[in-house]
Amino acid sequence: MTAVQSSAEDRGGELARTPRRRAFPGRLSLLVVYVPLVVAVHLGLIVAGLLTTPLRLEDLLTFVALVACGAVCIEATRRLGMPAGVARDLLSAWWLPVALLLPPVYALLMPVPLQALLQFRVRRTLVYRRVLTASALGVAGACTSMVFHLVVSEPLAGPPIWLVDAYPGIPAAVGCAALFAVVNSALVAVAAHADNPEGRWRDVLWTRESLLLDVVELCVGILVAITSALTLGLLLLALPPVMLLQRSLMHQQLQAAARTDSKTGLLNAATWQREAGTELSRAQRTHDPLALLLIDIDHFKRVNDTHGHLVGDQVLIGVASTLCHQLRDYDVVGRFGGEEFVVLLPGTDTVEACRVAERLRGRVRRLAVPAEEGTVAVTVSVGVSLLRTHGEDLIELLASADLALYRAKSSGRDRVCLPALDGPEASSA
Ligand code: GH3
Ligand code: MG
Ligand code: MG
Repeated sequence: MTAVQSSAEDRGGELARTPRRRAFPGRLSLLVVYVPLVVAVHLGLIVAGLLTTPLRLEDLLTFVALVACGAVCIEATRRLGMPAGVARDLLSAWWLPVALLLPPVYALLMPVPLQALLQFRVRRTLVYRRVLTASALGVAGACTSMVFHLVVSEPLAGPPIWLVDAYPGIPAAVGCAALFAVVNSALVAVAAHADNPEGRWRDVLWTRESLLLDVVELCVGILVAITSALTLGLLLLALPPVMLLQRSLMHQQLQAAARTDSKTGLLNAATWQREAGTELSRAQRTHDPLALLLIDIDHFKRVNDTHGHLVGDQVLIGVASTLCHQLRDYDVVGRFGGEEFVVLLPGTDTVEACRVAERLRGRVRRLAVPAEEGTVAVTVSVGVSLLRTHGEDLIELLASADLALYRAKSSGRDRVCLPALDGPEASSA
């Protein structure tokens, strides 16, 4: 489907911007156990590290310099903004050198000030997500540090022999950087999956795009580590290119985010119209069938009135997620207005379109969004229109689907309708 689903892509940076939410409250228990567990391990390791690590001025200076570089990068990109959907930040360029060069306790401490800075200066998000992100980075960094220090016992002591004799130092650094990405991804992916159980593990763990970014982060992180091992002053040379890379990455993600609806991750109305227009032109050229579904949540105002807007938002996110998971990659799914969604189904005839609409209706019915007093269930009404049968262009198709939706609403809601009474009708509540 064309909807952008960013939750899976943000594990390198954070879980904090996951736009989709869990649909089944039963899974909540997993998060309730998992998040405190990861945080407890993180805190336990910090205490153990502080008690056992000898304080050395050189370590401390390197740590402060790398934290300062991370903070400068965060501040430098702050003005670009960071809406939902912007997930990757290249901060590993600074986590990794800390993990490789310094004792594990520094890698455990590093995410605390930087995640706090992100939370208070860039984008406030649910505290538990931010805390989990910091803990996952900390634990991943500590694992990396421990393994690397088994190969190179004191990377900062004396001249950096491990750099000059490239073996085994550099391969170990590459392996440990990969370990960092794997451990961090795994820790965040478990939480992301608990948060959105309908998501595919493959999406949560690695997409091609996120893998590429992991490799870039790995390379930049190792280069920064080498630079700071040579002499700390060289960090002044590393900072501007890393900052520039980070800004261009942000910019790219902001552009992608401008295509989508920040609440649900679906295409926004303007982008949907553009992409649907392209599909429609193709169907007109090839004479293939094409269907349009207009989906509106029933009595959604009541959900807001009864449970509040935040729960209402979770319902919207849950419905959007359900639609995404039930449709094909090339179906065009968008959020049209408040609680109204629109789907273009290329190559789909009347019978198939009604079957898909029925399936979506049935799936949404099964949603149970957690609220303070139990769970919230909703239903949807769906209007279906078909190219050539109900309209020749997007405007006519939308108008026909709207008419069909009106029929679905006025005949009792929670049903699928076509614009006219004749033809196959796939209604029922
Ligand atoms: P019907 O079954 O006829 O569609 O009734 P309805 O209550 O769903 O429709 P109505 O148009 O009366 O109300 C839609 C509500 O959706 C009103 C508006 O406050 C709410 N809404 C629109 N956008 C958002 C949003 O982003 N978040 C939340 N929580 N509510 C929204
Ligand atoms: Mg409605
Ligand atoms: Mg409506």
